[in-house]
Formats: sequence, C-alpha cells, structure tokens
Amino acid sequence: MLQLIQNATHNAELTAVISDGQSYSYQQLLDASADMAALLLDATTDLNEARVAFMVTPGFDYVRVQWGIWRAGGVAVPLALSYPLPSLRYVIEDTGAQVVVADKTYADVLAPLVDEKGLRLIVLGEEAQPSRTAQLPERDGSRRAMILYTSGTTNLPKGVVTTHANLEAQISTLVDVWQWSASDHILCVLPLHHVHGIVNVVSCALWAGATVEFLPNFSAETVFNIFRQGQVNVFMAVPTIYFKLIAYWEGLPADEQQRVSETLSRFRLMVSGSAALPASVMERWKAISGHTLLERYGMTEIGMGISNPYEGERRTGYIGMPLPDVSVRLVDEANTEVSDGQPGEIQIKGANVFLEYWNRPEATQKAFTDDGWFRTGDIAVVEDGYYRILGRDSIDIIKSGGYKISALEIEEVLRTHPAISDCAVVGIPNDEWGELISAVLILKNKSDDSVTTADINTWLRERLPGYKLPRQYRLVDELPRNAMGKVTKNELKTLFTNDE
Ligand code: ATP
Ligand code: MG
Repeated sequence: MLQLIQNATHNAELTAVISDGQSYSYQQLLDASADMAALLLDATTDLNEARVAFMVTPGFDYVRVQWGIWRAGGVAVPLALSYPLPSLRYVIEDTGAQVVVADKTYADVLAPLVDEKGLRLIVLGEEAQPSRTAQLPERDGSRRAMILYTSGTTNLPKGVVTTHANLEAQISTLVDVWQWSASDHILCVLPLHHVHGIVNVVSCALWAGATVEFLPNFSAETVFNIFRQGQVNVFMAVPTIYFKLIAYWEGLPADEQQRVSETLSRFRLMVSGSAALPASVMERWKAISGHTLLERYGMTEIGMGISNPYEGERRTGYIGMPLPDVSVRLVDEANTEVSDGQPGEIQIKGANVFLEYWNRPEATQKAFTDDGWFRTGDIAVVEDGYYRILGRDSIDIIKSGGYKISALEIEEVLRTHPAISDCAVVGIPNDEWGELISAVLILKNKSDDSVTTADINTWLRERLPGYKLPRQYRLVDELPRNAMGKVTKNELKTLFTNDE
C-alpha cells in the first residue's frame, strides 16, 4: 500500500477527505500519517509486521492512523466499532496486537481490555510529540499489510491476512475497471472493518486522488441532504442501505422526490455488493435514480472477483463476469470444471487472493486446492457469459429430497408477492427430506391477517416447481443481520428448531 502513499504525493493539493465538516488535503494526510508512523516507531525502528489494532470513527483520523501503521511497517487491524467487548477481546487476542490506537470515543470502550492485557494505548488528540521523522521501511509487496475479519455470516469470523501486493492488486483493478479519477467524490456510509468500505470505497478513492466524504452514522435523511449539495458523484452500499434509502424517498413529498431524483441522475456510478441484490430493490432504485446499480461479487479473502460491466449491460440477478487479472473457475465436488450452465463452486486465483488465515494454518490449507485455487464456498452458474450466484454451499444450497435447491432463488420469487416486504429461506435438518425448505417472512403490513402463509404457498405453487416449495413458514418483524447487513441464517434456523 506504499503505492497508495506514493500516489498521494502527486495529488498533494487536492482534497482527500471530508469529515466532521472539515476538508483535508492529501498533503495533510501525508504529514499526519508520517507523524503517526513516527509515533509508532518511537519504540522500535520498524514495526516489522507487528499488529496494530485501531478503533477510530471513520474520517480523517481513521485514514491517518491506517496509513501511519503502513508507513511504519505494521499490520493494520481495524476493529469493528459495533463490536461488544468479548468480540474486541477475541480480535486482540487472536492477532496478538500489543499496541492499540483509539479516538476519545473508543478509548473508553477499550479501557478494560487495555488494563486486562497490558496493551499500549495511543489516544488520538492526546498523543506525545513524535521525536523523529519516520523513515519508510523498504518497499516489499510480500509484507503483511492488513488483517480483516470475515463478516461471521457462517461461522466465527476468521482473520484474513492480505499483503501490500494483494491490496494493490485489488485496488488497481477496481480503479481501472470502474474508471476512478481525481475528480470523483464518494460518500462513505459503510463500516471500515470490511473490504467493501476500506478497499472499494476508501482506498480506491484515495489511490485515484478522489475525495472521500465520511458519514459515520448512517441516516437516510442525512445521506440525501449530502447528495443534494451536488458534489458526490459515486456511491457504494449494501442492499439493505438501498432498501432504506428507497423507503425514505417514498415518504418524501413529490417535489422533494423530484429534486432528489435529479441529483441522483447526475451521479457517475452506483454500486451494490456484499450480499445478493434483490431484483425489486434494483428496479425501484432505477425508477428513483435512473441508475442501473452495478452489482459485483467479492469476499474478504479476494477483494472483488466478479463484476457487472462499467460500460455494457448490467444484468439484474447476475454478478457479471470475472475482473481482469482475476482467474475464476466453477468446479463440481470432484474439483472438475463444470460445463456451461451447470452449477459449481467459484474458485479464484490471482494476485488479489489473500495470503493466509491468521493463526489458522489448517483452515488456510483447506481453503486452497492442491493446484492453488482458493475455494470460495459460493455456488454459481454461468448463463450467457454472466455469473449468477446460487448461494453459499453451507447455508443457501438446500439439499432436499435429492435436489440441490438455491434458497436465493426462492427468496427472489417470494419478494415479488405483494404482501411480503422481505424474507429468508433456510434448510432445516429432516430425516425424511435431508433438509426441509423453510421460509421466514416479514409482511409489509403486520396487522393484515387477510394473508395467511397457506395463501402464500398457493400463490407460490403457480410460480415454482413443487420440490422448491417451502414446507414451513414463520412470520417475524425483523431479520437478524450482521454489521454488513447480511442475514445471519444460522440464527434464523432456531425459529424452526426451538419450538417443535
Ligand atoms: P464468514 O466467512 O465469516 O461466514 P462472510 O463470508 O459473509 O462471513 P465476507 O467476506 O464479508 O464474509 O463476505 C463474502 C461473501 O459475501 C461471499 O462469499 C458471498 O457469499 C457474499 N457475497 C458478496 N457479494 C455478493 C453478491 N453480489 N451476491 C451474493 N452474495 C455475495
Ligand atoms: Mg466467507
């Protein structure tokens, strides 16, 4: 990521960050991150891949700390701001971080851990003066740069180690294909402890000399207010955020709606990812903004792998095609490539692919085939050159009555029912069927008892073959989601197993 810092020297006078109502130039970022690096280096000459955990509100301080860690030769470990203490303890213990950096807000949160583990805590705003100017360590792409934890959708989060070269490959590819430039201005509403926020939004923008404006606490109203100032031209979010923006827009008076839509129509690019984008959200957003959302597929372990095109057709329900410099293949259980139109596991190779799971040599070994392909665990099919995700093998592919059924396909159909606002489909272990297709629904109007799950099942029968019909339903007010807005399906399964 030293390339990122090098690029900044060419954009010194441009605005890098807007946060808390203040603008900061690339020069300010360079100076402040050099100070941070010097402070970290005061104890030693080179952090030499020491893990430095940090818990900082998204904004100028966040970036200066992250860059400072990199410039001092350390490994950046962003802590999730929403984590409760036990999860923070898990990450600090797992990475063995001895030094933590926090702003005043989070220094208090970390205080018990600092005491318990005898950590060295640097509190922003109360830092000592660095005693010397930081020397950048030798540039070596193979050094470890960052540990990001996976979202924990299927299991306990795993620490994903990326090298500087991995991150540079991930970023430079996206900067090229999505045509980032110094005149871009992106609003960042995503958490920064996942690849979507830290790589696709912040690092791509700063690599290109663009401006990142931070909104640490998401509110649809504030997002639209910022959009209306007319400077933001790029936006990236997860499907649940688009869902919330749509709901807010729909509550605006007609003339306001018109004004927002006009502003949105002037954007250069709007992207969705991290979870499957429901067709209904895609279509509604297009009607509101005039934009066909660019849906792409990625993972903590690979950055981005497959994407709809920047120019050319963006297909609803598809994630597009492999990015340049990323090799993708679909294989069956015997690890043999499937023929076109057949479902298979996505496997990935390329400079973008991570180095290892931190402290988990066995998991790392299992994650790669003998010939070096990374197994994503996601099942997809190629149709007409476009990849379509069927889901995660472990939770979305339901094995029922000898069939393998994509929960995502059933969810897409359910979402078109006029009374349903959202849903999730899971497989529940069952002696007779293997797994029983089971659907959890949120109704648009919760007090409406004219719609029963039996009606919904009858309606579904006309749209899906019998073997894909859910055998049981539950109604809920909300779906459990993790910090990235992904439905935590393992939690949902208890709805069916606890009371029967
Ligand atoms: P864990 O590995 O801890 O269970 P996670 O896999 O959700 O969590 P991430 O690395 O943040 O952690 O997410 C990557 C996963 O997100 C992919 O493997 C894929 O299942 C899903 N995903 C990403 N983009 C898309 C998309 N456009 N459509 C469908 N699924 C997507
Ligand atoms: Mg995963």
